[in-house]
Amino acid sequence: MAIAMNVESKLGLDAFKLDEESHIHIKQGICKRDCKEKYCLFVCPAHLYSVNKESGDICVEFEGCLECGTCRIACRYGALEWEYPRGGFGVQFRFG
Ligand code: SF4
Ligand code: SF4
Repeated sequence: MAIAMNVESKLGLDAFKLDEESHIHIKQGICKRDCKEKYCLFVCPAHLYSVNKESGDICVEFEGCLECGTCRIACRYGALEWEYPRGGFGVQFRFG
């Protein structure tokens, strides 16, 4: 009998080969100066974006990136420099 899995359970099956170097760079000046909406905090399916409470900087836990590209499209101010992780690094989908 098949067992139903929710999205979170399926994402938990993915494996990540971690790189020390982030493939996502955030231009903090644009975030602070121009962006009230902060879409990046809401659109990431893996919930990787957050605000540093002390500095106010936007942070991204790039190690868990699913490489969907949603944040890059959602950021209407061009504050994100986004590339695929270097060869061999990043997410390895299972059941995908
Ligand atoms: S949506 Fe873009 S400009 Fe706005 S906070 Fe996020 S990264 Fe910065
Ligand atoms: S590419 Fe997708 S998973 Fe990766 S940080 Fe952006 S929205 Fe999140």
